[in-house]
Amino acid sequence: MTSDDVLLSKQGAKRTLLVVEDNEINRMMLCAVLEQDFYIVEAEDGLVGLEKLAERYQDISLILLDVYMPRCDGFEFLRRKGEDERYNTVPVIVTTAGGSVEDEIRCLELGANDFVVKPYNFEIIENRVNNLIRLRESAMLVNMLTWDADTGLYNKEFFYRAVVDESAHNPGIELDFVIADVENAPSLNDRYGEAHYAVLLRELADQILRKLPKGVIGGRIGPDKLAFVVPHEQDCNWEERLSLGPENLSPQNVSVKFGVVEHMDMSLSVPKVSSLASSAAATIRGRYDVRVAVFDDELHNRQLLEETIRESMESALGDLQFSVFYQPKHDVHTHRVGGAEALVRWFHPTVGFISPGLFIPIFERNGFITRLDMYVWEQACKEVSRCQALGLPEVPISVNASRLDFDLRDLPQRLAAIADKYEIPHSLLHVELTETAYADNPQRVVDTLGELKKLGFSIELDDFGSGYSSLVSLNTLPLDVMKLDMSMVRKATELNDFRIVESTINLAQVLGLQTVVEGVETTQEARRVIEIGCDYIQGYYYAKPLNREEFEDYLRRDATGECDE
Ligand code: C2E
Ligand code: CA
Ligand code: CA
Repeated sequence: MTSDDVLLSKQGAKRTLLVVEDNEINRMMLCAVLEQDFYIVEAEDGLVGLEKLAERYQDISLILLDVYMPRCDGFEFLRRKGEDERYNTVPVIVTTAGGSVEDEIRCLELGANDFVVKPYNFEIIENRVNNLIRLRESAMLVNMLTWDADTGLYNKEFFYRAVVDESAHNPGIELDFVIADVENAPSLNDRYGEAHYAVLLRELADQILRKLPKGVIGGRIGPDKLAFVVPHEQDCNWEERLSLGPENLSPQNVSVKFGVVEHMDMSLSVPKVSSLASSAAATIRGRYDVRVAVFDDELHNRQLLEETIRESMESALGDLQFSVFYQPKHDVHTHRVGGAEALVRWFHPTVGFISPGLFIPIFERNGFITRLDMYVWEQACKEVSRCQALGLPEVPISVNASRLDFDLRDLPQRLAAIADKYEIPHSLLHVELTETAYADNPQRVVDTLGELKKLGFSIELDDFGSGYSSLVSLNTLPLDVMKLDMSMVRKATELNDFRIVESTINLAQVLGLQTVVEGVETTQEARRVIEIGCDYIQGYYYAKPLNREEFEDYLRRDATGECDE
């Protein structure tokens, strides 16, 4: 029965009563009166009564029970009814003749709820029956609103309230908050179905409850999230404490991540604490080696910074807090600067410098990256145009494109329109993309790059060798340049073995691609990659990313050969 069913049935539907009475005349009288408002199930003694109860307990709203009957009397009936949990919520009114106090006490002890005395006063009976039914239905409703039927834990609202009550009643006691997040819930639901998922969740809840100390408050606060509040324990080893047994869970591969907030700050709302615990759990999603993450200062600071970033990104764009730096690329063949990569910088008025390594991933999550990339593209176009006006050497500028940019159907047209606004030859603009863009939506990326190339832009594959490089993307994408990720040079230096760098450059050459080696920092590294035969080098050894003035100065000095010294 759901809470809706209870509400519906409350609105006037006829309830069913079980009348257990051996005296036929009494029974008929009771039935005759009650029939107008109730469906009646009759039983001529306790045994028949128990049979009828077993058949119909889900519809029976109340039992009227005689005490003295042959075969199985009212006491025996109550005793046996009490043994079966399913009948717990069905109330009983005992009908006694003469009203013996001993009988009444015995019946109460056995779980009876009320009495009426023979001979019957029907008005009293009807009122008592109605009162008890109302009471029972309100209690059932409250139950449904309080407990989560799958796990037996509190539901979300009651859990939050219980935690607040607990802390109000025991203000001196520090509390810890634990969230359990079932990582692979969607696949479990798919594989086993909802009903079996509910069983798994119940097993999970039971296991966790067994692991946690007494006095724990538990709630189901989301379809796949359980939460627990426990008295704080000094130096608790959470990994150990929350190690779930292999019992019924692991064969089904239920993957649970825990997030813990120690010393709950009760000035925060419980949902807020719960979101902190969730964010801790989120940091270890997908990891096999760790199951528990405790919310600590580092995570807290990172969150504050992320919040600041999200809140101020819009205004930062308008207030020109983003500026574009240019990192020169050294052309190995001409010994001159052969291009530059546009790299965005954020100088925040209160936080100070924020690294792109921090804000780019956030923008990639919330989609803001596309607007920023368009801004950087425009700045790069402006810069090319300035260099032309200043009579500086014309070098192509490479601009990073995030994988999200490829969701813009008109990306090529937009980029071309901006370049044309500044009257820049498209050959002076390169687009850098990473393989992850390709992996997301291969056909879209292939088509977009094809159009970009038709418009005259060059395409560079960024960070090659950093992750899951696939030869498929090399073969399928219309590329001009391969950029070897700096981790390749780092590794080669560490192992004093450049063979992988060498084979990668050979591969690029076979495919007719130019090569840029990134992250070259030392003379030895530069010498080695030049020997191997790369075309361009981008790294601190030649130049760091430079602001506009520095970059223009660099170009000027490069033209006069000063940068060679
Ligand atoms: P990336 O595209 O791989 O850019 C190269 C990064 O390596 C830059 O970091 C650069 O400063 C750094 N670097 C260059 N030479 C060296 C070296 O010799 N040694 C070391 N240790 N590092 C070197 P940066 O500027 O912090 O940018 C980090 C990442 O942020 C970039 O990696 C890129 O993925 C992203 N990014 C930067 N600007 C933009 C942008 O405008 N749009 C998009 N979508 N992403 C951007
Ligand atoms: Ca890049
Ligand atoms: Ca790169």
